[in-house]
Amino acid sequence: MSEDRADDETEPGPPRVPDGGTASDTAGDTTTPMSDTDHTSDFEPMEPNPDENHEPTDVFGEAEEFDLRSGADSCYKCSSCDTSCPVAEVDDDFPGPKFQGPEQWRLTQSEEDYEVDESVTSCSNCMRCDDACPSGVPLSQMHNTTRGRFVDEQMSKLSVEYWRNRILANYRTSAFFASKVPRLATAAMNFGPARWVMEKTLGVTSERDFPEFATETFTDWWQARGGAQVQSADKRVAYFHGCYAEYNTPEVAKALVRLFEHFGYQVAVPEQGCSGTPMFANGMLDDARRDAKTNVSSLSALVDEGYDAVCSCTSCSMSLRQEYPELFDFEGTDEVAANTYEAVEYLRIHEDLSGAVADTDVDGDLAEEFAYHAPCHARNQGLDRQAVELFRELDGVDVEDVGDSCSGISGTYGWKEEKYDYSMEIGEEMFEHMEHAEGQTGMTECPTCAMQMEHGTGYEIRHPLELLEAALLE
Ligand code: SF4
Ligand code: SF4
Repeated sequence: MSEDRADDETEPGPPRVPDGGTASDTAGDTTTPMSDTDHTSDFEPMEPNPDENHEPTDVFGEAEEFDLRSGADSCYKCSSCDTSCPVAEVDDDFPGPKFQGPEQWRLTQSEEDYEVDESVTSCSNCMRCDDACPSGVPLSQMHNTTRGRFVDEQMSKLSVEYWRNRILANYRTSAFFASKVPRLATAAMNFGPARWVMEKTLGVTSERDFPEFATETFTDWWQARGGAQVQSADKRVAYFHGCYAEYNTPEVAKALVRLFEHFGYQVAVPEQGCSGTPMFANGMLDDARRDAKTNVSSLSALVDEGYDAVCSCTSCSMSLRQEYPELFDFEGTDEVAANTYEAVEYLRIHEDLSGAVADTDVDGDLAEEFAYHAPCHARNQGLDRQAVELFRELDGVDVEDVGDSCSGISGTYGWKEEKYDYSMEIGEEMFEHMEHAEGQTGMTECPTCAMQMEHGTGYEIRHPLELLEAALLE
C-alpha cells in the first residue's frame, strides 16, 4: 500500500454531500471553511423507529400466504426458456414458458382474484425449459402448481375435456382393467369405429395405434417366479416399474430384474401406483398426490432398510427425483428422491458396466444398428448420451444418436385430438434424423417416445435394458 493511500485512511475527510460540498456546508457556515484538522463530526445516526407510535411498513402483506419458493424471483427475461420450448415453436397460441412460469406465477401470488390463463394446459411438461434457464427459475414446478390451480378452480368438472384428460392421466386404471382381458382390450382399443367414436366424443386422437397389452403383467411374472432369486445384505434395489412396463412392455421389466440379479443384487418390487407424470401434465394434482403417497411410503420404507430405488422409465425417475420434492412433503419424500436412479445409470455407477459391455458381443435379433432418441426427461437428468457411450464398445451393434429434439408426444399431449398435429410437427426433426440413420430399429428409455418413434417411422423400438440383457446374459 502507498504512503499517500495510508495517510488518506488515517485522516478521513468530512462526509460528502451530493453536490460535492461537505456536511459542514449544510450547517450554514460557508464563510470560514473548516480545515481537515479542525473537523469534528456531530453526526448522530438516527435510531431505528424512534417514534413509539411508528407503524412499520408491511412490505409483503399477507407474507405467510405467499409461496416464495426458491428461484421464483430470479427471472431476468433472457427468453432462453421460450426458445427451447417445442410447443411454443409450433403453436402460435401458446405464450411460452416465461409467461407460464415467472410471469403468471407473480400474478397468482400478487392478485387475489387472478384467473390462471388457460394456455397453461397446453404445456406438455417436457421440462426442457428447466434445463434451458441459466438463472435456476423452477419453471416446471411453477407450471405444475399453476396448472393444478387452473384445474381445481377454473376447469368445469362436467366438461368433456376434464374427463378426457383425467382418463388419459389415469392410464394405470384403464390398463389394470384391460390387463384382465388383454387380447380383447387390444383389439377393442384399435377397432376403427370405436376409435372414431372416442375421437368424436372424448377428443382422443384416432390417428395413433393403441399399445398392445401384455398377456402376462410384470408383477404376475414376478410372483409366478417366486420373487427375488438373489439375496444380498448389501446390494439391494427396489424396482419402480411404473405403468407401462407393468402392463405393456414387461420384457423391459424382466430384463431389469435379470440384469440386477446377474450383478448380485437383491431386487424388491414394492407396492406402487403411477409415478404421477401424466397427472402433473394434466393438472390432476389430487390424483398424483394419492399415488405419490403410496410410492413414497413403500419406497422410503425400503430406503430405510438400505435399498436404492431404480426405474426403467426416465419419466418415472424424473418424477421421483424432482417433481415429488417440488410438489409434496410426505415423510420420506426427500430420502426417496436422493436414493432414486435410472437403472442403467445405477449399474454404471456401482458396477464396471462399460468393462462388461466391452468384453462381450451381441448376435441374433438385437445385432442391429439402432437409431437412439434421448427423451427430454433423460436429458434433464444428464442421461442423454448414456446409451450411445455405453454401447460404443459393444461388438455387433451400432447406436446412433438422432439429435436433441423433442419426440413431440410428451405422454398424453400427443394423444389429444387437438394436439396431434402439433405433436407430429414437433417430432418431424426426430423422424427425419431416424430415417437418415443407418439402422431401422429405434432405441429409447421412454415408453411414449417409443410410441411416437414407431408411429412416425414404422420402426420397431427397443429399450437399452433389452440390449444390455442380450449382451450380458444371452
Ligand atoms: S415444459 Fe416443455 S412445453 Fe411446457 S413450457 Fe416448458 S418447454 Fe414448453
Ligand atoms: S430462461 Fe429463466 S431467466 Fe430466462 S426468461 Fe426464462 S425463466 Fe427467465
